[in-house]
Amino acid sequence: MSNDAERGFEINCPACGRETLLKRDPVYEGFRRVGERLSCLGCGHVFADEAEAPFIQRVAPRVFDGKDVPRAPQVFAANEAGRTCRHCAHYVVNPFVQRCALKGGEVEATDSCRRFKVRPEKKQPDPF
Ligand SMILES: [Zn+2]
Repeated sequence: MSNDAERGFEINCPACGRETLLKRDPVYEGFRRVGERLSCLGCGHVFADEAEAPFIQRVAPRVFDGKDVPRAPQVFAANEAGRTCRHCAHYVVNPFVQRCALKGGEVEATDSCRRFKVRPEKKQPDPF
Protein backbone atom coordinates (compact mmCIF):
# COMPACT_ATOMS: atom_id res chain seq x y z
CA MET A 1 0.00 0.00 0.00
CA SER A 2 1.51 3.25 -1.10
CA ASN A 3 1.06 6.54 0.64
CA ASP A 4 2.05 8.80 -2.22
CA ALA A 5 -0.67 11.23 -1.37
CA GLU A 6 0.84 11.89 2.02
CA ARG A 7 4.36 12.24 0.75
CA GLY A 8 3.36 14.29 -2.24
CA PHE A 9 4.18 13.34 -5.75
CA GLU A 10 4.48 16.61 -7.60
CA ILE A 11 8.03 17.58 -8.37
CA ASN A 12 9.86 20.41 -10.02
CA CYS A 13 12.18 18.41 -12.15
CA PRO A 14 15.67 19.95 -12.49
CA ALA A 15 16.39 17.84 -15.55
CA CYS A 16 13.46 18.88 -17.72
CA GLY A 17 12.56 22.01 -15.78
CA ARG A 18 8.90 21.15 -15.65
CA GLU A 19 6.39 20.66 -12.93
CA THR A 20 5.73 17.02 -13.28
CA LEU A 21 5.08 13.92 -11.26
CA LEU A 22 7.38 11.61 -9.46
CA LYS A 23 7.17 8.07 -10.73
CA ARG A 24 7.76 5.34 -8.23
CA ASP A 25 8.78 1.97 -9.52
CA PRO A 26 9.35 -0.87 -7.14
CA VAL A 27 12.82 -2.31 -7.25
CA TYR A 28 13.07 -6.04 -6.79
CA GLU A 29 15.96 -8.21 -5.91
CA GLY A 30 14.78 -11.56 -7.04
CA PHE A 31 11.27 -11.72 -5.63
CA ARG A 32 11.98 -9.41 -2.77
CA ARG A 33 11.06 -5.79 -3.02
CA VAL A 34 14.08 -3.82 -1.88
CA GLY A 35 13.08 -0.29 -2.63
CA GLU A 36 11.74 2.21 -5.09
CA ARG A 37 13.19 3.79 -8.11
CA LEU A 38 12.18 7.41 -8.23
CA SER A 39 12.07 9.11 -11.56
CA CYS A 40 10.53 12.03 -13.37
CA LEU A 41 7.41 11.06 -15.19
CA GLY A 42 8.16 13.70 -17.78
CA CYS A 43 11.73 12.99 -18.79
CA GLY A 44 12.71 9.89 -16.88
CA HIS A 45 15.41 11.56 -14.84
CA VAL A 46 16.20 9.25 -11.93
CA PHE A 47 16.51 10.58 -8.40
CA ALA A 48 18.75 8.79 -5.96
CA ASP A 49 16.27 8.98 -3.13
CA GLU A 50 13.36 10.95 -1.77
CA ALA A 51 15.64 13.56 -0.29
CA GLU A 52 16.85 14.38 -3.76
CA ALA A 53 13.41 14.54 -5.32
CA PRO A 54 12.40 18.19 -5.57
CA PHE A 55 8.88 17.92 -4.22
CA ILE A 56 6.64 20.88 -4.70
CA GLN A 57 5.33 22.10 -1.42
CA ARG A 58 1.77 23.03 -2.03
CA VAL A 59 -0.03 25.21 0.41
CA ALA A 60 -3.69 24.36 0.29
CA PRO A 61 -5.44 27.37 -1.17
CA ARG A 62 -7.87 29.07 1.10
CA VAL A 63 -11.08 28.71 -0.79
CA PHE A 64 -13.15 30.53 1.78
CA ASP A 65 -12.37 33.64 3.71
CA GLY A 66 -14.17 35.87 6.14
CA LYS A 67 -16.36 37.34 3.43
CA ASP A 68 -18.01 33.97 2.92
CA VAL A 69 -19.07 33.53 6.49
CA PRO A 70 -22.83 33.81 6.44
CA ARG A 71 -24.05 36.81 8.30
CA ALA A 72 -26.72 36.45 10.91
CA PRO A 73 -29.98 37.25 9.18
CA GLN A 74 -31.20 40.72 9.96
CA VAL A 75 -34.94 40.84 10.18
CA PHE A 76 -35.04 44.56 10.60
CA ALA A 77 -33.03 47.28 9.02
CA ALA A 78 -30.79 48.93 11.56
CA ASN A 79 -32.97 52.02 11.92
CA GLU A 80 -36.12 49.97 12.03
CA ALA A 81 -35.02 47.53 14.70
CA GLY A 82 -35.72 49.88 17.59
CA ARG A 83 -39.02 51.07 16.16
CA THR A 84 -41.13 48.01 16.76
CA CYS A 85 -44.17 47.98 19.01
CA ARG A 86 -42.31 46.46 21.90
CA HIS A 87 -40.16 49.59 22.11
CA CYS A 88 -43.10 51.94 21.70
CA ALA A 89 -44.57 54.10 24.43
CA HIS A 90 -48.05 52.95 23.37
CA TYR A 91 -47.25 49.28 23.75
CA VAL A 92 -49.08 47.67 26.62
CA VAL A 93 -48.48 44.11 27.53
CA ASN A 94 -50.21 41.90 30.03
CA PRO A 95 -50.25 38.13 30.42
CA PHE A 96 -53.11 37.73 27.94
CA VAL A 97 -52.61 40.26 25.23
CA GLN A 98 -50.24 42.75 23.76
CA ARG A 99 -51.98 45.83 22.60
CA CYS A 100 -51.48 49.35 21.45
CA ALA A 101 -52.79 51.99 23.82
CA LEU A 102 -53.10 54.42 20.94
CA LYS A 103 -55.00 52.27 18.45
CA GLY A 104 -56.59 50.07 21.07
CA GLY A 105 -56.08 46.96 19.04
CA GLU A 106 -53.98 43.90 19.56
CA VAL A 107 -50.42 44.09 18.29
CA GLU A 108 -47.36 41.94 18.07
CA ALA A 109 -44.13 42.95 19.75
CA THR A 110 -42.44 42.90 16.37
CA ASP A 111 -45.05 45.03 14.63
CA SER A 112 -44.02 48.42 13.43
CA CYS A 113 -46.21 51.42 12.99
CA ARG A 114 -46.07 54.96 11.78
CA ARG A 115 -47.14 56.41 15.08
CA PHE A 116 -44.26 54.80 16.89
CA LYS A 117 -43.18 56.81 19.87
CA VAL A 118 -40.01 55.94 21.74
CA ARG A 119 -40.87 54.54 25.12
CA PRO A 120 -39.12 56.41 27.90
CA GLU A 121 -36.46 54.33 29.55
CA LYS A 122 -38.55 52.79 32.22
CA LYS A 123 -38.41 49.18 33.14
CA GLN A 124 -41.70 47.53 32.31
CA PRO A 125 -43.04 45.31 35.05
CA ASP A 126 -42.72 41.69 34.22
CA PRO A 127 -46.15 40.64 32.97
CA PHE A 128 -45.81 37.21 34.53
ZN1 LIG B 1 12.03 15.70 -15.76
